[in-house]
Parts: sequence; C-alpha cells; structure tokens
Amino acid sequence: MTNVLDLFRLDGRVAVVTGASSGLGVGFARALGQAGADVVLAARRADRLEEVVRDVRGTGRRALTVTTDVSDPEQCTALAEAAVAEFGRIDILVNNAGVGTAVPALHERPEEFRRVIDVNLNGAYWAAQACARVMEPGSSIINIASVLGLIKSYAPQAAYAASKAGLIGLTRDLAQQWSGRRGIRVNAIAPGYFASEMTAQIPPDKLMTFIGNTSPLRRLGEQHELDAAVVFLAGPGASYITGSTLAVDGGMSGH
Ligand code: NAP
Repeated sequence: MTNVLDLFRLDGRVAVVTGASSGLGVGFARALGQAGADVVLAARRADRLEEVVRDVRGTGRRALTVTTDVSDPEQCTALAEAAVAEFGRIDILVNNAGVGTAVPALHERPEEFRRVIDVNLNGAYWAAQACARVMEPGSSIINIASVLGLIKSYAPQAAYAASKAGLIGLTRDLAQQWSGRRGIRVNAIAPGYFASEMTAQIPPDKLMTFIGNTSPLRRLGEQHELDAAVVFLAGPGASYITGSTLAVDGGMSGH
C-alpha cells in the first residue's frame, strides 16, 4: 500500500516552469525542486532566471534556464527541445507566464489587448503543445489562470479576464483531448491575490477593500498556499483529476 506522503513526491520528474524569473513562478520552481523534480526555468529576463537557478540547485536538484518569450511558438518548441536535450524528458509543465493590464475598454488599443491574449492564452497553448508532443503518460500540465477568469474585478480588465477565462476553457479542452488518449492530465489553478511584481501595480487600499468585500479569508494569499496546489496537481496524488480548475483564492470565487 502506498504511503500517502509519497503521492506528493516528484523524484526523478522533470518540470518546466514558464514565467520563472519573478513572482509566483520563482516559488513554483523552488517548490517543485523541493518535491524532487529537476526544473527548467523559462522567461524573457535571462539575468533574473540565473538567480532562480541558484535557488533550485539549493534544493539539491538540477536546473536549466532557457530564455523564452512564450508568445512565440518557435521559442516554445525550442524550450521543450532544450529541456529534453538536457534532462531527457518533460513530465510537468507549469504555464505561469503572464502579464496584467487595467485599461478601460473604450480606450484599449488593439495592440494592448492582443499582447495580453498573446502571452496569457496563446503562450500557454504554444508551450502546452510543445511539451505535450514529448510528454509520456503520467505527465501533468498546470495552467495558472486567475480568480478573474471566474469572477468580475473592481478594475477594468477585459483583456486579462478574457485571457484567463480562455485559459480555463483551454484547460478543459486539452484535458479532453490528451488525458485519455495520451495520459497527460491538464488542470488549472485560479489564484486570488498574492504579492508579486504584477499585484504591486495595484493601489494597496483598493486591493484590500476588494479582498475584504469578496474573500471570506479577508487577506492576501501566501506563496506556499499556491505551491502546495502546484505540487499536488503535478504529482501522482492528483492522478484522477483532469480538466479541473482549482481556486486558491481565499473563497473569493465562492462569494
Ligand atoms: P510577475 O511577478 O509579473 O511574473 C510574471 C512572469 O511572467 C515573469 O517571470 C515574467 O518574466 C513572465 N512573462 C511575462 N511575459 C512573458 C513572455 N512573453 N514570455 C515568457 N515569460 C513572460 O507576476 P505573478 O503575479 O508572479 O504572475 C504569475 C502568473 O500568476 C501570471 O500568469 C498571473 O496572471 C497569475 N496570477 C497572479 C496573481 C497574483 O495575485 N499575483 C493572481 C492570479 C493569477 P519576464 O518578464 O522575464 O519574461
């Protein structure tokens, strides 16, 4: 009989984390390393990725950086190829790269809207395609969506909300296409609000009022509360979960 704690271990697995140069992605890379996985770190800022490599190696695991703009399908293919060349396989993809905006809809320029969709939705698709082509049965893709893919915001967020709701739809469909046939589970996490470079752009008083009005827990989330969800969905403990969106949002989306 399996010890339940073994269901959370990722020894011998290889994980790719996009958007690993700052914020939540740094924590995910470190947590996956702590759980036993070797980690491939992807983002555009190579210097910042190098700092995170030291963190992952500090967990005793191997780490590789691949400078990647996920909005370019060819760079996503190159990312998957580099991961396989270095570690021989990809078992886990955390589609975490993302950008935020808050532009009133009547003023939003096409290139602003397109950029958000291009990174948050299209980029996740290109990375998922590239990795799924080499993933073996038992692999796991985790799309970092947002509570704003589930509920309305207090700020104008047409592009961001559309990208994240789209990512939840993409998750459902890829799970349908790949889970039975290829043994690749595809799930999403919908975080509430966590401290990062992205949320540092929000005026703190507005943010805390919104959280106070919508979240039963009435506080920001903490990195380890998301790390636990990522490690769970990545590993064998979640082997019967696919196509799901797990809200880690202090209860906001249940409001
Ligand atoms: P962050 O600190 O701004 O990090 C965003 C990451 O995405 C950075 O590593 C950035 O790296 C990367 N990135 C942006 N554009 C990219 C591109 N074209 N190609 C590759 N990487 C790109 O923000 P965060 O809060 O940690 O956000 C991480 C994810 O969580 C995002 O998808 C975000 O929507 C989601 N999320 C965050 C919260 C929150 O409260 N923080 C809540 C819900 C959802 P480079 O600039 O180096 O490329």
